[in-house]
Amino acid sequence: MAKPRVAIYSLTCCAGCQLEVLDTEEFLEIVGLVDIVRFPIAIAKKEEGPFYASFVEGMVTTPQEIETVKQIRKNSKFLIAIGACATYGGVPTIRNTIPQRKAEEIVYGKNAGHIVSIKPAGVGEYVEVDYLVHGCPINKHEFVRVVKALLAGIVPLQKDEAVCTECKMKGNKCLFKEQICMGPLIQSGCGATCPSVGLACYGCRGPKEDANVDEFVMLAKKQGYNDEEIKNLLGRFACTAKQFRKYLG
Ligand code: SF4
Ligand code: SF4
Ligand code: SF4
Repeated sequence: MAKPRVAIYSLTCCAGCQLEVLDTEEFLEIVGLVDIVRFPIAIAKKEEGPFYASFVEGMVTTPQEIETVKQIRKNSKFLIAIGACATYGGVPTIRNTIPQRKAEEIVYGKNAGHIVSIKPAGVGEYVEVDYLVHGCPINKHEFVRVVKALLAGIVPLQKDEAVCTECKMKGNKCLFKEQICMGPLIQSGCGATCPSVGLACYGCRGPKEDANVDEFVMLAKKQGYNDEEIKNLLGRFACTAKQFRKYLG
């Protein structure tokens, strides 16, 4: 029986999430289970759909990329956004807080007139996405879990617990009093990677649905953070997240 055809697409980004996929200890096992017909960082072939599943890394920043994601959606039974860029637009959405033309001129100077770009956004802004694998970069173990679930015909439930939950389950000492930690706001799934090594969570997985941002901001202010610093914290990976909009202007 033919193996399910799987494609990995890369839009505008640093390709770090693809690197994580390549780095998974179970990569050879995955190759045994599926036929990878597109994987820009690893193979030259670029086959067309239909695909059983497409994994899309990177944000949408050009009109062509809007067409690309629509085509991917049309050709894929499952479409999975991987990484902060594909789920929320990632770090470059910080430019969405200034006018588009101004952002282009800052980067390209007098050549900005030749640039055709749009505000960076996640894939879900344009097409329906079946599952979001969060993180910058993604957690490779979560990626493997999602692939295996899809192969069983199951779309995993999107988690909506805070990083704090995983942090507590690991028995970590809470860092909040010493460092501003975004764990209470951010979606779990990374295994509380940063607090487990003594570093505050800086929010790379984006906010959980019911994140209590008002409370977080109040606590941050008590710790001496000003409005600009709070804006920079919240907007670092997910300027497009509705939960943060009130504080991002
Ligand atoms: S989410 Fe982070 S690691 Fe992944 S492609 Fe975007 S910038 Fe790179
Ligand atoms: S260290 Fe951060 S993630 Fe861990 S419990 Fe405290 S606030 Fe939550
Ligand atoms: S602890 Fe926070 S910043 Fe670190 S990997 Fe997890 S979500 Fe990302």
